[in-house]
Amino acid sequence: MKNTNFDPKFIQKIKTILLEEKQRLEKELSQFAKKNPRNSADFDTNFSDLGDEDEENAKEVASYGDNLALEQSLERSLRDVNDALKRIEDGSYGVCKYCGKAIDPKRLEARPASSACVKCKENLTRR
Ligand SMILES: [Zn+2]
Repeated sequence: MKNTNFDPKFIQKIKTILLEEKQRLEKELSQFAKKNPRNSADFDTNFSDLGDEDEENAKEVASYGDNLALEQSLERSLRDVNDALKRIEDGSYGVCKYCGKAIDPKRLEARPASSACVKCKENLTRR
């Protein structure tokens, strides 16, 4: 489904926001994880080596667990941002993936990575 109803200026603005968001997420991820060289959207959390004492090992495991959870949430956001950029490229941006209708530009401005309209999103979260 192609979408041509959006003002190119609006799309350009969204693209800028998305690219900034992408940079921010990648920077945040690179602080504790390293990029998978084969997949730019995949990061692996570094396992920090604090020492070999039991207490140090426990701390390593705890911080690894925290970072892993953060990594997964950041990665999910990054994937959403990349998907949105892809949709801009192929011209399907701003179309709800569930009902095929145009998403409210106000919603897109607030959450540029959205791929579902408010109604469908509500239906999904209610279930
Ligand atoms: Zn929808």
